[in-house]
Amino acid sequence: MSDEAISSQAQGLLRREDRPPHNDTGDYDIAIIGAGAVGCAIARELSQYDLKIALLEANPDVGMGTSKASTAIWHTGFDAKPGSLEAKLMRRSYALMDKYLVEANIAHERLGAILIAWNQDQLDALPELLKKAHANGVTDVETISAEEIYKREPHIQKGALGGLFVPGEGILCTFSVPLAMAYQAVENGVELFLNFKVAGLDTSHKERVGLLDQQGNKIFARYIVNAAGLFSDEIHALFGKTSFKVRPRRGQLIVFDKMARSLVNHVVAARADIHHKRRAGQPDRVRKHFARTDGGGFGR
Ligand SMILES: Cc1cc2nc3c(=O)[nH]c(=O)nc-3n(C[C@H](O)[C@H](O)[C@H](O)COP(=O)(O)OP(=O)(O)OC[C@H]3O[C@@H](n4cnc5c(N)ncnc54)[C@H](O)[C@@H]3O)c2cc1C
Repeated sequence: MSDEAISSQAQGLLRREDRPPHNDTGDYDIAIIGAGAVGCAIARELSQYDLKIALLEANPDVGMGTSKASTAIWHTGFDAKPGSLEAKLMRRSYALMDKYLVEANIAHERLGAILIAWNQDQLDALPELLKKAHANGVTDVETISAEEIYKREPHIQKGALGGLFVPGEGILCTFSVPLAMAYQAVENGVELFLNFKVAGLDTSHKERVGLLDQQGNKIFARYIVNAAGLFSDEIHALFGKTSFKVRPRRGQLIVFDKMARSLVNHVVAARADIHHKRRAGQPDRVRKHFARTDGGGFGR
């Protein structure tokens, strides 16, 4: 990713110098808590407005929370609940990401995904999944035979009964996305505070809130955006709110070395459900989700 490619000019962001000068009172208009993929995207987007913005991150760098550890799959949203907010956002983000990955020169590959049915129940569920994909506007999805699966993925174990092929699914460099967005936000005037773990509030002022870190540093802002990921409920609670609770689950990902890359050609989910929803009678979990990735670029 070159500096030139990720410059905000290349993204068509409204540059700070193109805007009227901000009437700076010393306080921030907006403080965003958390510099993961979500906080960085919000910071980048808001940087186009005449606002003084702080992006606060507890870690020494951006994207060190969940965003650094995703499976790196670039989802179409084909199996979201039709009509749900998730479905709408996934479709919108897919289109935006399609453009952004190219503009910011972020490594990605549209490999297509294959969801494999290993038993009759899963095979019977495929037409319903196909309907769901169509309802979500992902119309290029098709059911494929076991023969077609083994043609596309000769190294998977025997026993596949059929599957669903989703050509739009892909992989992307999960580290670069928050990094590029934070870079552009900062270039466009956002102030990034690393090692700033919001641990307390100062609510003694009208129309502004003080955010304190553990060292006693304080910044004031008129609006706060909670983008603290797994810890967003703790931030919520700091403000006296308890309307949701995050219950993280620990899992395991097996990351193969680059030598294994020729063994798999698509994102392969070993059941008719890519998003880990539990289904009776599925085969062992270890082989459930196999995304071809390679750190540092996906080119052959
Ligand atoms: C195993 C796994 C696999 C996944 N695979 C995929 C996938 O293939 N494709 C996909 O699209 N999504 C995937 N996801 C989901 C995706 O990774 C997350 O939805 C996304 O990274 C969340 O981003 P975020 O910015 O909300 O959270 P985070 O990246 O966690 O960012 C939150 C940030 O807030 C900071 N923070 C927390 N508390 C404070 C505080 N008090 N003060 C200051 N900063 C604070 C944290 O340090 C962190 O950097 C996966 C998730 C997991 C766990």
